Amino acid sequence: MPRLDNAALGELLCLAADDPDRPYHQRRALRRAGRGAYRWPVEAADLVDEGRSLTELRLVGPWLARVIGEWIADPPVQMPVPPAIRRGFLTAVEARRVLEAAPAPRVHGDLQMHTEGSDGSASVRAMAAAARALGHAYVAITDHSKGLAIAHGMDERALARQGDEIAALNDALGPRGPRILRAVELNVSPQGAVDLEPSFLRGLDLRLGAFHSRLRLTDDQTERYLAALRNPDFDILAHPRGRIFNFRLGLSADWGRVFEYARAHDRAVEIDAYPDRQDLDGELLALARETGVRISIGSDAHAPGQLTFLDYGVAAAARARIPADQIVNCMPVDDLLAWAREHRPRRP
Ligand SMILES: [Zn+2]
Repeated sequence: MPRLDNAALGELLCLAADDPDRPYHQRRALRRAGRGAYRWPVEAADLVDEGRSLTELRLVGPWLARVIGEWIADPPVQMPVPPAIRRGFLTAVEARRVLEAAPAPRVHGDLQMHTEGSDGSASVRAMAAAARALGHAYVAITDHSKGLAIAHGMDERALARQGDEIAALNDALGPRGPRILRAVELNVSPQGAVDLEPSFLRGLDLRLGAFHSRLRLTDDQTERYLAALRNPDFDILAHPRGRIFNFRLGLSADWGRVFEYARAHDRAVEIDAYPDRQDLDGELLALARETGVRISIGSDAHAPGQLTFLDYGVAAAARARIPADQIVNCMPVDDLLAWAREHRPRRP
């Protein structure tokens, strides 16, 4: 009899959520738990074996505990294959297993996180304190830029004020760190333009750029990526596909060409490790390894407790056997800053 792991249970939950005969509140609970399964810290089947309640798990109430318990006791004969929109995501348990089994790249810091400056819930200070507890040597504060109004994107003045705050915090933290990097997650237009002044951007330690619009197009978007990568105003292409678990498939492109272009221009492509994103995923990381393009890993944390999401990304890199010298987070901070300064083409 097959044993159902959390990924299989997540798929069964999402499928059940699609059943139009169920009442709305059930479908919503099923859909949420289907996503939540990817964050459960232990296999649900192990909880049952230990005689513990499934309600210990995120987003599982008594009704869902009964539903899931029945699946575990009597698994379906044939497990459904997840559709593309739910494929290529690691569960928390799988990520931990990878990190325990394989020699994982030693990352020194986290290169994507948000604060109350844009759509995060905590201060720069609180994020840095949580990062220190995780042993990070550096963190990049990458709040959204002004073009993304829905996420309370910041303009040059707000980011300059945050820069003063970061400088003061770095002075106060001193050598025990972590070193807080002044950074931003720029909104990149479908034409490849960024939404902050280039002269301002040159004063930041690190610049992420990401697409946040027209993410549901289904035709090939290679030219959009190449146009963005021609723009010298950002260093890291964040959450490249723009996919969201069970919500949005993300863009498609000739990824070999995109990665090769990014490599030639010495940019990094990101593993956004947020569990619902995991963008790039394992399949594209295998291709990225072949092309040799630099990889950046960020938790995309919006709260201190989410900084541990970085593990999903480190596990994905480990599983794809990305060598440490291809991962920008494996650089000491001075080398990272030098790369971010020097890799950009000179302006005429
Ligand atoms: Zn983003």
